[in-house]
Amino acid sequence: MEVTAQSVWKNCLSFIKDNIQPQAYKTWFEPITAVKLTDNALSIQVPSKFFYEWLEEHYVKILKVALNKELGERAKLVYVIKMENTYGNKQPFTEKIPSSNRSAVKSQDVDIPLKNKNPELKNPFIIPGIRNVKIESQLNPNYNFENFLEGDSNRLARNAGLAVANKPGGTSFNPLLIFGGVGLGKTHLAHAIGIDIKDKYPEKTVLYISAEKFTQQYIDSVKKNNRNDFIHFYQIIDVLIIDDVQFLSGKTGTQDVFFHIFNHLHQNGKQVILTSDKAPVDMQDIEQRLLSRFKWGLSAELQSPDFETRVSILKNKLYRDGVEMPDDIIEYVAKHIKTNVRELEGAIISLIAQSSFNKKEITISLAKEIVEKFVKNTKREVSIDYIQKVVSDYFQMDVDTLQSKTRKRHIVQARQLAMFFAKKYTKASLASIGSQIGKRDHATVLHACKTVDNLSSTDKQFRKYVEDIAKKLAL
Ligand code: ADP
Ligand code: MG
Repeated sequence: MEVTAQSVWKNCLSFIKDNIQPQAYKTWFEPITAVKLTDNALSIQVPSKFFYEWLEEHYVKILKVALNKELGERAKLVYVIKMENTYGNKQPFTEKIPSSNRSAVKSQDVDIPLKNKNPELKNPFIIPGIRNVKIESQLNPNYNFENFLEGDSNRLARNAGLAVANKPGGTSFNPLLIFGGVGLGKTHLAHAIGIDIKDKYPEKTVLYISAEKFTQQYIDSVKKNNRNDFIHFYQIIDVLIIDDVQFLSGKTGTQDVFFHIFNHLHQNGKQVILTSDKAPVDMQDIEQRLLSRFKWGLSAELQSPDFETRVSILKNKLYRDGVEMPDDIIEYVAKHIKTNVRELEGAIISLIAQSSFNKKEITISLAKEIVEKFVKNTKREVSIDYIQKVVSDYFQMDVDTLQSKTRKRHIVQARQLAMFFAKKYTKASLASIGSQIGKRDHATVLHACKTVDNLSSTDKQFRKYVEDIAKKLAL
């Protein structure tokens, strides 16, 4: 087989893939393309300077090993940075428009002309009549970088945010689009960037606004016939942060005005930061020309944090609130609430509240009660079959024995435990539980549940069975 840049790189990739986290692979290696191979030097194209720096900082070893394997000891790696997003190259993706069609699309890339070159600035944030040209940033100081904990799930977005904060408008991340599911920290990170910029560049005008509020202001401006003032106001901002841009979907008027504001800011080297609950490819009812703008810079995803990050987020929160909590409780919460940082914080806050209002000690069982409320909606239901399997494994018998008609005490108990857990963990009716666990009737299941309840409050050994099995069934 002929050795080409692509074939060499393909082999390197398969080696790298086996040796790093899948997410890291996806983020840092999938976007790379091999472009050239001369002797022992492989050229790879990376999307930005930041990307290259990141690879050098974090993956230089593995890259070296992979390349040496493919091209020998004298292998060299050459980075080609695809500079398409930097300011200065203003319209990287503008299609060539045949001159005959030009007038039809003229508005695409031109600013809306302002009738009055120097209009009195109308700030949509202030009540009309009160003159105030100072623009409040609308930033929440509690959402800063310091308490935005880093983990694999947010490393790219967080570091890109820091890079933007160091040099607003001066990196290739313009716009910076942060996307991800609910409660994963988009709003927090967006504020953190704004706050950091304000710290470093107090003279810069930074503005945070939700897409919803932006839309509202726009609608008002149309009603009051001062659309141009609205546009002008936004065009003098140095760092514009718009949260939840998916809200613009279907709102063509607002999209149109945002498109012009965006172009103006971008062409003047101003920074735009956007957040969205979806990746640009998945955004619906957003105009193509706007979507293509979103892709100019960097789209960085926030993912669900891994267990370690969840633990650190909780510990940091408790520390800041001055609350102490045993590690096993923190770990319990982190283990069971996986997808959403907001819920994670919510659970720990209710735990603190519950224990202080009711003067209850914070125990695993209290934690469990609270966590259950939070995960209730998303909880995967265990099946009755699975419960029977777990219970019979626990007593080292097989499922047939558990279901058999025998009256041997330990088998009866196992069966009753299976029924009890089926009642507790599934939505099945008593009758349906009975028919699945050895063809018993609903009265037998009811009796089993009562017996288990009684025994676990009177018999220590039996209570241990219940606790052990509950743990095994814990999702
Ligand atoms: P989103 O805007 O994505 O729905 P938010 O930014 O509102 O999410 O975050 C939800 C909550 O989770 C906030 O209280 C935020 O402070 C917290 N949070 C999210 N990610 C982190 C993180 N990495 N470190 C600390 N707190 C976080
Ligand atoms: Mg948000």
